[in-house]
Amino acid sequence: MYLLEMPVENLTSVGKTTAKLLHKIGIDRVSDLIDYFPFRYDDFSQVVKVKDLLPNQIVTIKGKIILISNRRSFKKRMTITEALLEDETGSIKVIWFNQPFLIKNLKAGDEIFIAGRVTFDNLGLQFVSPSYEKNSSQAGLNTGKIVPIYSLTGRLTQKQLRFLIDIALKSVRQIAEWLPKEIIKNNKLISIAQALQEIHFPTSFVKLEKARYRLKFNEFFLIQLQSQRLKDYLAKVKAPQIKFREAEIKKFVAVLPFSLTADQKKSAWQILLDLEKEKPMNRLLEGDVGSGKTVVAALAILNVILNGYQTVLMAPTEILAKQHFNSLRDFFSNFNFNIALFTSSEQLQNDQLAMSNKKQILEQIKNGSINLIIGTHALIQDNVKYKNLGLVIIDEQHRFGVEQRKKIKEKNNNKKTPHFLSMTATPIPRSLALILYGDLDLSIIKEMPRGRKKIITRLVAEKDRLKAYNFIRQEINQGKQVFVICPLIDPSDKLGVKSVKEEFKKLDQNIFPEFEIGLLHGKLKAAEKEKIMSEFKANKIKILVSTSVIEVGIDIPNATIMMIEGSERFGLAQLHQFRGRVGRGEHQSYCFLFTDDSSTKTTQRLNALVKSADGFALAEYDLKFRGPGEVYGTRQSGLPDLKIASLNDLELINLTKKEAVNFFENYSLADFPLLEAKLDKNKLIDHLE
Ligand code: ADP
Ligand code: MG
Repeated sequence: MYLLEMPVENLTSVGKTTAKLLHKIGIDRVSDLIDYFPFRYDDFSQVVKVKDLLPNQIVTIKGKIILISNRRSFKKRMTITEALLEDETGSIKVIWFNQPFLIKNLKAGDEIFIAGRVTFDNLGLQFVSPSYEKNSSQAGLNTGKIVPIYSLTGRLTQKQLRFLIDIALKSVRQIAEWLPKEIIKNNKLISIAQALQEIHFPTSFVKLEKARYRLKFNEFFLIQLQSQRLKDYLAKVKAPQIKFREAEIKKFVAVLPFSLTADQKKSAWQILLDLEKEKPMNRLLEGDVGSGKTVVAALAILNVILNGYQTVLMAPTEILAKQHFNSLRDFFSNFNFNIALFTSSEQLQNDQLAMSNKKQILEQIKNGSINLIIGTHALIQDNVKYKNLGLVIIDEQHRFGVEQRKKIKEKNNNKKTPHFLSMTATPIPRSLALILYGDLDLSIIKEMPRGRKKIITRLVAEKDRLKAYNFIRQEINQGKQVFVICPLIDPSDKLGVKSVKEEFKKLDQNIFPEFEIGLLHGKLKAAEKEKIMSEFKANKIKILVSTSVIEVGIDIPNATIMMIEGSERFGLAQLHQFRGRVGRGEHQSYCFLFTDDSSTKTTQRLNALVKSADGFALAEYDLKFRGPGEVYGTRQSGLPDLKIASLNDLELINLTKKEAVNFFENYSLADFPLLEAKLDKNKLIDHLE
């Protein structure tokens, strides 16, 4: 048995190469193996006889190979491996494509399991490219059961991973039960150890369901408890009271180059009222891309600075931080404010853009002469000390837990807890937000500023693809730029690297060899991503091919075309957010949707996007038909990063909320050290880079 904290290198069967592959998928310790859940299962448990096979069934059969051989198909330019498999009731043909090496492993006379879909062609039933497994001594993990399928990388195989996870699970009893007994009993949950065992190697589908339920419960319960804990905390601490400076605010609004929309006014008003209280504000400002959240934030900042307090504004990336720096510097150009941009690669101050060094800026933040500090989320980790911080604003990050607030408070010389405002472009309807973020007050900007050019959205038929490419070419020749978004196609390819690379190759080599094309995906390091984005921003790159990782708020006024491949795979709210990345300048912009799915349902959904420019309406349309788990992408949507639960589990969300409220009313967290530790570990800001 191994200790949970041991590095995977300690496992006798893990050499250097395997260890490297494991690290690549985030597995460093024995416990990480246990936490690496399958993304689906193959049911090898029901072994069917050949005579009972029906077309389209997904089944496992066990039989003996009668013959197996390779042949070349010149028409299809591939090797086809054909085998005949027999059990005591009959025989069936099995074929695989482009796996010539199979005949080295599988020989006539071998007993094997075959699992997959039974298909039907003019010669009868057959299996096409099924999973297979020899009936060997090791078969226990891989056949005759419900078998887990994991995301893999490189040469790592399912069999290898199952073998290692099985070893790791021998240590599962070391994981102490951290949920309070009462809660386990009342909800008829299975133990954590049992759940982890069953999620990997289910002994039945009923047990698997119980395991999933327990693990989902874990996730939601922790989120809800976090929420209650924050409420509790905020009730006890004090924030600086920020007086409403009416005259200056009015003057600021009067000289803006536009008039505020009603929703902007209302949101600003709600925020300014919160700031006057001694209870720290805890508010989420929601508004579609381009709805003008920044100016609302600016009003809050103005008020805070005029009251003699500092504000810090954090964004998910350096580029977005810089963008905020530029807009706020412009908004406050009539004021004598000291504004700093503080990121790991760049430190700027005010309009002279003089390079100040890090040490100087830190000193000025500490002595209070800098009023507004803008940077990335890393700002709360950095060694920054504030003189009198009054307001923290976070862009595209809804949650800011007790730990983060305590940390900020410690950095703050006035020992007060600052007010907190988070901003997001994800259109989360109020009903859903209340369940998920019950601890946050909501301000919603629904109405877009007037005079925006509508983005022309088209569902492009495959036969018109070339026309679309030609149109794109014309636009680029006129100096414009293009985004191309690719979906994640293979679920084992978690970061969507495969599909985006193929698309890049196609565009780069075949379609647009004359243009500079960039590639962006989740596997790139933060610095590499920033570099590509800034080249795109500088118009060096004309076409940016990307997975859904590109930032929500990025402002490329010159980009006029958003082209989305496999658009049926995205939720409408997410598609709408992609679309929001164009149309930010004065030019007419376009969004082209491609899909291989010509079903009426898909066409209808995508047409909703063609017709509507209202992010909330689109989100609600999709919520009705698909449930929240499908509507929003998971990354960067600011929604909780769920491992196994889904936002579709509304009932469970409600239930865990009740349990969390109940727990806080009747118990003290301090009496449950394991649970408390779990909460502290379950960091709510997880994309710190
Ligand atoms: P987002 O909500 O996506 O952060 P921004 O705050 O970046 O949106 O605003 C987008 C653009 O719209 C900015 O150039 C901003 O100056 C402008 N803007 C904001 N409010 C209004 C308004 N009421 N009327 C016209 N333009 C506005
Ligand atoms: Mg913004």
